[in-house]
Amino acid sequence: MRDSRKDFFLEPRMEEVPFLIHGFGTGRWKDSDFKRRPEWKDFQLVFLNQVHSDIIRIIDTVPQEKIRGDAMITDLPFLLLFIKTADCLPVLVADRLRKVIAAVHCGWKGTSKRILQRVIQRMKERYGCRSSSLLVVMGPCIGHECYEVGEDVFQIFKEENHSREFFRPHPLRREKYFLDLKGANLSQVVSLGVEEKNVFSTDICTHCDENFPSFRRDKNKAGRMLSFIGMSL
Ligand SMILES: [Zn+2]
Repeated sequence: MRDSRKDFFLEPRMEEVPFLIHGFGTGRWKDSDFKRRPEWKDFQLVFLNQVHSDIIRIIDTVPQEKIRGDAMITDLPFLLLFIKTADCLPVLVADRLRKVIAAVHCGWKGTSKRILQRVIQRMKERYGCRSSSLLVVMGPCIGHECYEVGEDVFQIFKEENHSREFFRPHPLRREKYFLDLKGANLSQVVSLGVEEKNVFSTDICTHCDENFPSFRRDKNKAGRMLSFIGMSL
């Protein structure tokens, strides 16, 4: 992933698609910065009230108020769909042929509920998207070396029939694990037939890289990074 203008990161394979606009902002990049960019002046910004759910919103008209949910799908141009995170995994999805996009918030709760898998299913059912034309980009999140979770999280994934391979037992502490959030989400995408060559991700760990907000590192002082995707005509 390329450090474009130091304010946000871009995935080159997404940049190649002429009608797509996307990025993963650092902690410095704020929503007011979007309004200052002349090339995006025709775009409307759409934010969710994120609640660590598996609620998916289809955006057919621009909501007048912030709506609850953790994923958005649209085929409308001139919207920028936003996901705010600080350690959770932001995922952007685009269908190059059908011109459908999605932005998804994948924390451990959403991941345990398979929100990303459900988003891709909805894209297929509602818009006729095919796995072969999807591009999936996973943004910066807390890395599997840093993301310590407890037995409660392990048990919830077990109850939801997730593979244990995404949990590495802590070498020193009992009933503690390291969770591979990206790996767990990658498996959901691949299970629906998206080829791994069309799934991209950054190696950035938000907990290690101070350019990005990290809830684990900064606690309540942590800001949020903005990930966004939109389409022009
Ligand atoms: Zn780290």
